Amino acid sequence: MIVILKPDVEESGPEYQRLLAHLAGLPNVEYRVHEVSGTQQTLTEIYLIGNTSQIDQKEIEGFEVVDRVVRVSREYRILGRHKGDTRAIGFEYNGVRFDQDSLHVFAGLCAVSTRDHVEQMLKALHEHGQVCTRMGAYKPRTSPYSFQGHGRECLPYVFELAGKYGIRVIAMEVTHDDHVDEISAALDAAGRPTGVMLQIGTRNTQNFELLKSVGRQRRFPVLIKRGFGITLDESLNAAEYLASEGNHRVIFCLRGMKANFSDPHRNMVDFAHVPVVQRLTRMPVCIDPSHSVGSRATGADGVLDVMHVTAQGVVAGANMVLVDFHPEPAKALVDGPQALTLEELGWFLDDVNIARRAYLERRELMRRQRS
Ligand code: PEP
Ligand code: MN
Repeated sequence: MIVILKPDVEESGPEYQRLLAHLAGLPNVEYRVHEVSGTQQTLTEIYLIGNTSQIDQKEIEGFEVVDRVVRVSREYRILGRHKGDTRAIGFEYNGVRFDQDSLHVFAGLCAVSTRDHVEQMLKALHEHGQVCTRMGAYKPRTSPYSFQGHGRECLPYVFELAGKYGIRVIAMEVTHDDHVDEISAALDAAGRPTGVMLQIGTRNTQNFELLKSVGRQRRFPVLIKRGFGITLDESLNAAEYLASEGNHRVIFCLRGMKANFSDPHRNMVDFAHVPVVQRLTRMPVCIDPSHSVGSRATGADGVLDVMHVTAQGVVAGANMVLVDFHPEPAKALVDGPQALTLEELGWFLDDVNIARRAYLERRELMRRQRS
């Protein structure tokens, strides 16, 4: 059960204190207070956990500070969509709005290679009017002998250059909570020229201690990848871990499933789940065509498979595209074979726009059919 308070309620006010005392007195029920910062105001939501079936909803709605009470199913209590649930969807971060209506492309380096490559990438993005990117500093690798990323060494120049080229949000994977502190410190040292969206990779989707610590921090929003060998339900529960610790600014990323049936693609493309995740939860949904396809293979029509699957996800309503580019794929330190080149950036963005227009037209068609 979620008790949603009226906007900007004073925590020290007597009516708020009276409500908390009432909730504390409910038998076998625990409560957790969550502050949800929106663009205009801060909302307080109180989550009641335990034996909530006996609770008198009307009585709680009778408190002056309470706006409404939503009964939620057991599934994805915070991030899920529940019957009669009119809580806001999405969030704004560093001037960029993320929700189930918007679409942002995060093109960039799978792994930071050199300062020069970072600069070439960000400059190209700037020239194409892009304000988001991906830059891997910490790379989880299958082999312990493979390059593991430049780590915190590269953060100062990545952030400085991001500021120079007007980049507002960088998706950056973290595999340990120390990485969050390193990113935080480097951003502060650079004068906060940009923003970071922490990425939880598919290998860490069920690293619950990492999820808890990333969920406890509120500075950065989080992009969580679907686990490549677990059910959708298990991955959505993993996302819920982040929210249950207090961070509601979560985006869910589909990146393909590990299955030999997917050959010759690296993973089985699962973008048919874009509308499914949007229906089950309030999270914006990202697609990662690069790690799904895993190569620069080109269709008989001349269009790259990466572009074909991107279009499939965008036509189904995806809200974010995380995609690997590199100025010199042959010199990339990770995943060069699947990277698109800077010469292909304009083409890629135009192709995304075609798919986006098709999606918006499909939505219009649905509205006309229903009216
Ligand atoms: C990545 O995006 O760089 C990555 C490692 O992806 P995944 O976790 O989906 O394999
Ligand atoms: Mn990669």
